[in-house]
Amino acid sequence: LTSGLEAAWTKLKGEDVMTKENIAEPMKDIRRALLEADVSLPVVRRFVQSVSDQAVGMGVIRGVKPDQQLVKIVHDELVKVMGGEVSEIQFAKSGPTVILLAGLQGVGKTTVCAKLAYYLKKQGKSCMLIAGDVYRPAAIDQLVILGEKIGVPVYTAGTEVKPADIAKQGLKEAKMNNVDVVIMDTAGRLQVDKGMMDELKDVKRFLNPTETLLVVDAMTGQEAASLVTAFSVEIGITGAILTKLDGDSRGGAALSVKEVSGKPIKLVGRGERMEDLEPFYPNRMAGRILGMGDVLSFVEKAQEVMRQEDAEDLQKKIMSEKFDFNDLLKQTRAVAKIGSVSRVLGMIPGMGKVSPAQIREAEKSLVIMEAMIEAMTPEEKEKPELLAESPERRKRIAKDSGKTEQQVSQLVAQIFQMRVKMKNLMGAMEGGANPAFTD
Ligand code: GDP
Ligand code: MG
Repeated sequence: LTSGLEAAWTKLKGEDVMTKENIAEPMKDIRRALLEADVSLPVVRRFVQSVSDQAVGMGVIRGVKPDQQLVKIVHDELVKVMGGEVSEIQFAKSGPTVILLAGLQGVGKTTVCAKLAYYLKKQGKSCMLIAGDVYRPAAIDQLVILGEKIGVPVYTAGTEVKPADIAKQGLKEAKMNNVDVVIMDTAGRLQVDKGMMDELKDVKRFLNPTETLLVVDAMTGQEAASLVTAFSVEIGITGAILTKLDGDSRGGAALSVKEVSGKPIKLVGRGERMEDLEPFYPNRMAGRILGMGDVLSFVEKAQEVMRQEDAEDLQKKIMSEKFDFNDLLKQTRAVAKIGSVSRVLGMIPGMGKVSPAQIREAEKSLVIMEAMIEAMTPEEKEKPELLAESPERRKRIAKDSGKTEQQVSQLVAQIFQMRVKMKNLMGAMEGGANPAFTD
């Protein structure tokens, strides 16, 4: 998925804004990448539509390139499609919490049964397992062995009893023993069939579970959507558990579950050991799908630092020639916060394109400048005129900041120059001229 998406961003390099026209090609790449990752078609359609709408409607964030913006939109949409937040297992308000596991054969239900008990046991819950796969004696043995391994009792009734009756008896036993959580394993089939569904419906009626979780193998391809739909419509599920995420799955199933059923993935299995079960973090999964954590955090920081209101505020000040030392300081701090001077210099009007040597120079002069501004009184920061008029004030600032009087004079001259430059620049931008300002 990652390499397919990479192509999408690349096509936006060098663009100033995202338009319907210039995102057409990248959107095709995104669509292709999702389909190749086995995301089902209806899900892909909705995803691509939503991302396109957002991209075209999006304004320019200063210092952030359209290709970076698109990465961010795709990331946020991925997170949203996967449910946004972490979804915890719900517990019953009174009596035991009952968790019913369902899913096709071989997806990892029996393993999850034990893993989940182990996971909840670590949270201080007492658990009991119910062996409900009556078709294979080996399945019962498998659960008993796992139960012993993690020190959790397993209720078994052999293969002659109907699953619904096993559920009933198991639950009774659990109530007698006052356990906090009962987890029932069930039989799966190779495909969705009526027999399996009817059996699950019966079991569910007797159990009245707090959670009905569909166990889905992460390797499930295009058919994930119809699978989830079938279980969701027929049985009614409260969430899903995605297993075998440690394999080289293409991740498509992760995107389908919530979109198709409206229910979240709650946990993921990442291996065969009992420890290998963890909460599902949509955020991390999206990051993993995109493989571009750096770009994302840069865009987030830039957004945070240069919030729209701030930018508008600044613009007003510039137009009224009120840009003062506080604003200058705010801008340099924004630069420091983002951490990459070269990238952000473009955000400061009048800086234009710069060489590495100039960047080092700029970084140094930012530190010097900050020291001088720190030495100013609040009044002086707001009214550069005071400093222009008074050599005594400039002298005091030089002394307090450990800089020369000449450096202070230069800074004062600079802010007046900046006011003029910025005002011209803003005027030019509003008039639609090329915003790149060069001396
Ligand atoms: P069931 O038929 O749904 O009950 O599936 P099982 O629990 O018997 O698991 C089928 C196979 O998948 C077993 O060999 C498990 O060890 C393996 N398995 C289950 N979960 C995972 C997982 O998260 N990662 C890996 N790599 N293997 C798993
Ligand atoms: Mg099993």
